[in-house]
Amino acid sequence: MRASDATRIYFDRAADELDLSASLRRLLATPKREVQVQLPVERDSGEIATFIGYRVQHNDARGPFKGGLRYHPQVDLDEVRSLAALMTWKTAVVDIPYGGAKGGVAVAPSDCSTRELERITRKFVDALHDLFGPDVDIPAPDMGTTADMMAWIMNQYGRYHGFAPGCVTGKPVDYHGIPGREEATGRGVGGLTLKLLSRLGRKPPGTRIAIQGFGNVGTHAAKYLADAECRIVAVGDASASYANERGLDVLELLRHARGTGGRLTGFSGGDAIPPADLLTIDCDVLIPAALGGVITAANADAIRAPIIVEAANAPIEPEADDRLAARGVVVLPDILANAGGVTASWFEWVQNRQHYQWGLDRVRGELDRILGRAFEEVWQLAQSRKLPLRTAAYMLGVGRVARATALGGVG
Ligand code: NAD
Repeated sequence: MRASDATRIYFDRAADELDLSASLRRLLATPKREVQVQLPVERDSGEIATFIGYRVQHNDARGPFKGGLRYHPQVDLDEVRSLAALMTWKTAVVDIPYGGAKGGVAVAPSDCSTRELERITRKFVDALHDLFGPDVDIPAPDMGTTADMMAWIMNQYGRYHGFAPGCVTGKPVDYHGIPGREEATGRGVGGLTLKLLSRLGRKPPGTRIAIQGFGNVGTHAAKYLADAECRIVAVGDASASYANERGLDVLELLRHARGTGGRLTGFSGGDAIPPADLLTIDCDVLIPAALGGVITAANADAIRAPIIVEAANAPIEPEADDRLAARGVVVLPDILANAGGVTASWFEWVQNRQHYQWGLDRVRGELDRILGRAFEEVWQLAQSRKLPLRTAAYMLGVGRVARATALGGVG
């Protein structure tokens, strides 16, 4: 199934519950702008390589377009289109003044030198800077992109438009970023997992957790949950997966990854397992924190976790979602579970515009407050309407965008 079709199915379920008209549905489901650009870049060898970049601006009814930039070989227009729509519903669920967008470049960062990545990133800005801006469209990191790349984006944007740190978020703290942004998505995943456990009458100590993906989101989620005395029984990344029923030592995992350029392979504190087994391992909470579309009709029935927290965007395909729901598996959806990143991006943008800096405690406190409020709203709606958390979250998000669209008008 195409990624955008999956997002559309979830949107339609909420639109049915909200009784949205066919014309409003069509308006909300249609991206405002989709752009594909050619990025010719000189490799270190002197050879010219041509990459393809994308930006989809889905909706700006509630504020400027906002969304990350993904570097991955499988990036294509349809995936970016789906991720852009998710951003629109996500910023609305947590009720921050943004719309939704997403970008990407079809490239494997591991095949490029730092200088090559810098050239690709600057070329991306050269091609799209007129569509970006603090009041227009604000990129951020996503899979395969880092704080350093956001610094290059700000610097390159500034060559055209002057000093404007609010044109991109997720920047390094020493270059107009804020403390707490880098950890925010993983912290949010961890904090919301604890809220869900509490609502389900479970206590964190000893809760067995499996995490797929050990990058920005997976590492911070693992650390947060280990600090809350959960037991991280399995982790995996693109290089290897490891399990330990007694619990993996997260600090050891982080130390190991630091020494291998971020990869888990070669870790000695657990048993190596086949990557596919990570998703079906016996655990209490499964946290996909890597690619989309990893839980499908083919493996949904084999999943043993009674709770899934979607740290990744779109990790569960709709047919799999139905099968999991039929078995009573509780899914905390991506548009709520991983909204900590864009929420902290909002704090960064606000501070950039005020030329002011909050401390880490304030960032964490505000983040926890906003995510906690959104969780309660979604939880209460799901309970009162007897709906899955995903449909409730979409209802909140889609409903807010629909109201803003009606208030702003289309004339
Ligand atoms: P990242 O690039 O920092 O890390 C990605 C991780 O996934 C790496 O450990 C990588 O090895 C692993 N991975 C890649 N392919 C894999 C495979 N086939 N099997 C197992 N693991 C694999 O990316 P990230 O920023 O941590 O993003 C992870 C997910 O979270 C993505 O879906 C992204 O859209 C989502 N997300 C990220 C943010 C953010 O602030 N970074 C915010 C919201 C959502």
